[in-house]
Amino acid sequence: MKKFLLKIKNFILYLLFPRTCFNCGVDLPLNEQGFLCKECLKKLKKPGPIICQRCGITLKDGGAHCFNCRGSKLKTFKCSLIRSALDFNEPSRALIHGLKYEKYTNIANFLAPLMHKTLLENPQMLEAEFFVPVPIHKKRLKKRGFNQAEVLARELSSLTNIPYINALTRIKNTKSQTKLTKKQRAENIKEAFICTSPKEIKKKAVILIDDVCTTSATLEECAKVLKKAGAREVYALCATKE
Ligand SMILES: [Zn+2]
Ligand SMILES: [Zn+2]
Repeated sequence: MKKFLLKIKNFILYLLFPRTCFNCGVDLPLNEQGFLCKECLKKLKKPGPIICQRCGITLKDGGAHCFNCRGSKLKTFKCSLIRSALDFNEPSRALIHGLKYEKYTNIANFLAPLMHKTLLENPQMLEAEFFVPVPIHKKRLKKRGFNQAEVLARELSSLTNIPYINALTRIKNTKSQTKLTKKQRAENIKEAFICTSPKEIKKKAVILIDDVCTTSATLEECAKVLKKAGAREVYALCATKE
């Protein structure tokens, strides 16, 4: 009887507020618990099949490393491995947008298992003792109410038993990176972070967590700060790779 009443309740809710696909807007079926319709779900794609061994971007012409990570440059990076669960395309962008700006934080329940899968495909990252979410500035945090990277890190923690720690604080309220060139992005993000938990991360391997990886300038800057504070190894795991 209880089950039946719940079904009726869900049906009435569905009639009043039909849930729609976050990407294309089509009505989702009554029993659909996800955020995308079947068609948009099919369009989600992980990077590859061949990816850069360091930064994880898709290599169209094969090889081991992309131009940015090749040769002597490889040794200069503080973030040794970057992996992303999904390529940045229309449906994955719609999910990130829903999570970040429309405050559907339960989208993290969908994204975190995909990130977990990516983590398991890169076993060297499993040595990590902590997840460290990429922080947002306190002004932005106040406006949004949450840090989307922290929501993802919390979800990943419950999937893996690797704890997360807010070891970084953003001290510079950087302008949006979207319209900047690669060089400007690196400059914009410079000295934007400080490590607030040096004791905890000392000699530890950590995994930075973020929703979107663009030029990886942000991840590299975070890794620089963590390494300087004593971290042994810094990896990064993102929901999407732009
Ligand atoms: Zn759709
Ligand atoms: Zn690369």
